[in-house]
Amino acid sequence: MTDKITVAGVAVDTRHWIGGERVASAGTFTDVSPIDGGVIGEIARGTATEAAAAVAAAKAAFPAWAATPRAERARLLHAVADGVEKRIEELAIVETTDNGALLRSHRRGVMPRVAHNFRFFADWLLSLEHEDFDTRGHTNHVDWDPAGPSVLITPWNAPLMLSTWKIAPALAAGNTVVLKPAEWTPLTASLLADIAAEAGLPAGVLNIVQGYGSEIGDALTSDPDVRRISFTGSVPTAKRISASAAANLTPLSLELGGKSPLLVFADADLDLAVDLAVEQYDNAGQVCLAATRILVEESIAEEFTRRFTEKAAGIVQGDPRDEATDIGPNIHPRQLDKIDGFVRRAVEAGARAVIGGHPKDGQYYAPTLLTDVAQDSEIVQEEVFGPVLTLQTFTTEDEAVRLANDTRFGLAATVATGDKQRAGRVTAQLVAGTVWVNCFFVRDLQAPFGGSRHSGVGREGGNWSFDFYCDLKNTVTAP
Ligand code: NAD
Repeated sequence: MTDKITVAGVAVDTRHWIGGERVASAGTFTDVSPIDGGVIGEIARGTATEAAAAVAAAKAAFPAWAATPRAERARLLHAVADGVEKRIEELAIVETTDNGALLRSHRRGVMPRVAHNFRFFADWLLSLEHEDFDTRGHTNHVDWDPAGPSVLITPWNAPLMLSTWKIAPALAAGNTVVLKPAEWTPLTASLLADIAAEAGLPAGVLNIVQGYGSEIGDALTSDPDVRRISFTGSVPTAKRISASAAANLTPLSLELGGKSPLLVFADADLDLAVDLAVEQYDNAGQVCLAATRILVEESIAEEFTRRFTEKAAGIVQGDPRDEATDIGPNIHPRQLDKIDGFVRRAVEAGARAVIGGHPKDGQYYAPTLLTDVAQDSEIVQEEVFGPVLTLQTFTTEDEAVRLANDTRFGLAATVATGDKQRAGRVTAQLVAGTVWVNCFFVRDLQAPFGGSRHSGVGREGGNWSFDFYCDLKNTVTAP
């Protein structure tokens, strides 16, 4: 195994990052680019041994990091953000090569946001108030004590963005971390280790272990020295992790899948509603928040479908490194098969493909819209995680809400309406962690983010992140 590979001109270390040192494994796994199926390189394949070493390193570094003054922790996180900003071009091209998402959005949206994750939580830390109040002359003083070593496990659809959305608050809170990136996208995490080291983050504060969740996951999530586990990924994995964490009652934050609705009422700005619907194909549909169930008021369904089809015909699918491309490839041949399986079974069950409904050359799936789908069918109930939308109609507001809420998920919902009263009534009834009205994907890091039901447990963002990564302590002092 070579320790360093070159990815689109950028040197990437393929080893783990444990206790401030690069550590190899006996085995490797092959990282492949979804753009052309080409081999990127061999990556260290972690085992329980490296998992234990990473947790031990995080444990050893914890007391000093927890005792580091807030201002110094914040300074170091800003230094990491500076490093990210200096390397935006490199991070963007490496991430695109690894996961196939658009280079232009990595360059202009995602990587600046990665830097912002560090800056935001550094600043939030400094503004965190110690609460004090009085009980019959006794003072109550509430402290945000760092919880301890935290294991962070992340998926491939937005690798560095989702990892740093956990790393930044965990480190700001005074915890040390072990990150396990998804095995399909190991690269930018390794670059982050370089950036953190250059920024002066002490050894062992950030540790990264690479490998398959099925091989290294249990060792990380069942380790009694781990005080928090934050996971973003699928529901089946979340259940495994929950079972593993139960042995030590380790607190969990779970950000999981979705099957979010887009409700389009007849009084909506139809152009806006069509734009919102077509936007759901972004990142080839590999977005947990995607509103993949379009629910349209029957009176406008025909016109909506006509305009949607027209607009979707303009989507440029191709190499994610080209500026003109709107949708890149799907992550893996296995994912492509999964998407196609969902669509085939839906069509067999009576669905009609208004557009798409088939794979294309390479690792691409045609943007697909399916109608004539039953509410209790698999295609309406299960997350596809590809560019596949369904369209159903409703005639009353009550019916729209009933259909919207009728899945086991509750991550997000989008409502398109020109009537503010209606927006208020409908959003009050929706089961979703985030509801957007006449917009989509507008996110503020101080807002709570997470899902209800099978979409997750807990919320991240602002104080909610610190709530999770801290052990709150109330000290009551007699007069
Ligand atoms: P996944 O559950 O297969 O994998 C996620 C991570 O878990 C990977 O790093 C994987 O290696 C690891 N893992 C697998 N088995 C493990 C085990 N036994 N123990 C510990 N870790 C293990 O999910 P995925 O396919 O990578 O991601 C797609 C899913 O993520 C979708 O369901 C999507 O909706 C969800 N997601 C949710 C959000 C959110 O914020 N709610 C954001 C992005 C993605």
